[in-house]
Amino acid sequence: MSRESPPPPDVWSNDDAKELYLIDRWGAGYFDVNDEGNMTVAPLQERGRKIALADVVRDAREQGLRTPLLIRFQDLLHHRVRTLNLAFASAVAENKYRGVYRGVFPIKVNQLREVVEEILDAGRSFHHGIEVGSKPEIFAGLSVHTDNDSLIVCNGYKDDAYIRMAMLGRKLGKKVILIAEKLSEVRSILRISAEMNVDPLIGLRVRLSTKGGGRWAESGGENAKFGLSTAEILAATEMMKQAGKTSAFKLLHFHVGSQIPDILIIKRAVREAARHYAKLRKMGHPIEYLDVGGGLAIDYDGSRSTFHSSMNYSVEEYARDIVYNIMDVCDDEKVPHPDIVTESGRATVAHHSVLVIQAFGSIEKVAPGPLERAHDDHKLVKNLLYTLENLALENLSESCHDILQVKEESQKMFELGLLNLDVKARVETLFWQTAERMQKLASQLDASEVPDDITELGKQLVDQHICNFSVFQSLLDHWALGGLFPIVPIHRLNERPTQQSTLVDITCDSDGKVSKFIDLSDVRDTLPLHTLDDKPYFLGVFLTGAYQDIMGDIHNLFGRVNEVHVFLDDDEECGYYLEETIEGNSIREVLSMTQYEAREMVAKLKAQVDAAIKQDRLRPTEGMRLLADFERGLADQTYLSFP
Ligand SMILES: *Cc1c(COP(=O)(O)O)cnc(C)c1O
Repeated sequence: MSRESPPPPDVWSNDDAKELYLIDRWGAGYFDVNDEGNMTVAPLQERGRKIALADVVRDAREQGLRTPLLIRFQDLLHHRVRTLNLAFASAVAENKYRGVYRGVFPIKVNQLREVVEEILDAGRSFHHGIEVGSKPEIFAGLSVHTDNDSLIVCNGYKDDAYIRMAMLGRKLGKKVILIAEKLSEVRSILRISAEMNVDPLIGLRVRLSTKGGGRWAESGGENAKFGLSTAEILAATEMMKQAGKTSAFKLLHFHVGSQIPDILIIKRAVREAARHYAKLRKMGHPIEYLDVGGGLAIDYDGSRSTFHSSMNYSVEEYARDIVYNIMDVCDDEKVPHPDIVTESGRATVAHHSVLVIQAFGSIEKVAPGPLERAHDDHKLVKNLLYTLENLALENLSESCHDILQVKEESQKMFELGLLNLDVKARVETLFWQTAERMQKLASQLDASEVPDDITELGKQLVDQHICNFSVFQSLLDHWALGGLFPIVPIHRLNERPTQQSTLVDITCDSDGKVSKFIDLSDVRDTLPLHTLDDKPYFLGVFLTGAYQDIMGDIHNLFGRVNEVHVFLDDDEECGYYLEETIEGNSIREVLSMTQYEAREMVAKLKAQVDAAIKQDRLRPTEGMRLLADFERGLADQTYLSFP
């Protein structure tokens, strides 16, 4: 498959690249290919400039930041927040809904301060707030939140210190709503708020019988980790009543899981929750907000389907269906329309960041080798050459069996000591050359006519691109959950890709690879890529803004990657500037996380160098130079660096 003479370049256009990599399908109007064959990002869709990723990589490099590089488009975040709010605003207006929309951003999806601040800034006129889910997150949340008309919704299990922080927010005039995950939390909230002399705002998370779809189906339903049963909700309201705080019950919450691909599940859950709200409201509880949680999905593969990496609805449809169904149930029950809260995380941030990695080598199955016969060729070599020379469409299957048999025989003979390395090498080379020729021939057939053996053999012919990154640091969902991300070369898109490849990372873990890729139906096992030449080859991993940043770990001690934040600016010649650059972890930093202290390490090395000098193994000047290398190297980044 690799390296056969590529067709003339004129039969390949940027449009072919866009179609091959499904860019218009998953790109949501943000991604495109320019005339030079470079991948571009339009953070404001058609209303703003397009930035070539290759330019950003070059600029970052000029500032000393190499790949792997995480590029954030701050304007794109802005655009997402506006899109979500405008979708709800128009759904509210269209339906003459008598409540407002108050979105919150769940910071666990991306806690980076600049990301959260950008979202709050973009959402200021809509009073878009935040959601926190742990004790550290409420500290972060309180510090960045400044708009007292927007909400801080507090989920997750809580201790007294967490609750006290929420009450601190109340004292500052913030609408901090504590969502009780357990009955005992209601008791603690009532006690602590009385002690601190402040009115608490309490939300209850209802456990719906509707289950989410896709990978997070188990987040909902009767066996979910979170949420109160109907009996517990009634007990909680009784507790508030006993404490004279009936007015504290302000919000009803549910969350059926993340990445819900099917709008029908969302509608069903919303109706079920709205029914709970209406019944509670009729009992006299002054609930103001109905919080429908997260779950708004991202179409990672562009298939617009109910596949786990996709979604069968748009943001606008999501907003309309939520508003309409809440209204429908409330009108039926004759209760006021609640204000609507969503906790959309993934849909807010997934698009805004791109991970750029460099493929710096490849592992290819088919190596070049002589195809001529020699009079003293080994019998196995003669066999293979015969098959190769007589290969035709009519004997594909038979030839395939023949070469597989030769390969097996050569392996057996080698194990018995009957085959020299040069013959083994020749057999292997010829085997893959023949296999490649077979795939070429088979490609003339309809997929359904290709013999199974040939298809199987074809899968083994796949090349691998070795990329300078760690799946465990940067694409954890791919490893842990089989999450799919669009991956596209950021340049050379005006050139036809000639290899079918998979990606391997630089960890020494065999799981450190990407071998599942997006497709319109199901998934593909290979990614079409270009053959490496003497220039760097960069791939973009897209839609990585949600969850990946914070969940990564330092497997093999590969640390955080370099990062740049891009802002659009018409005053700049290129239309943008790099507002912030954040250097990835140094070797020293990741080592200190595992209790290696740099000073101590250098001292230990010095003792060994001194000893080696004493033993005349090293000359003093050389010893000191090597020690200096060691010390300097600790400040380097954890990833490979290429000249
Ligand atoms: C994780 C989480 C979210 C975010 O979900 P997305 O699907 O990313 O929007 C919202 N609410 C709660 C309670 C969560 O746990």
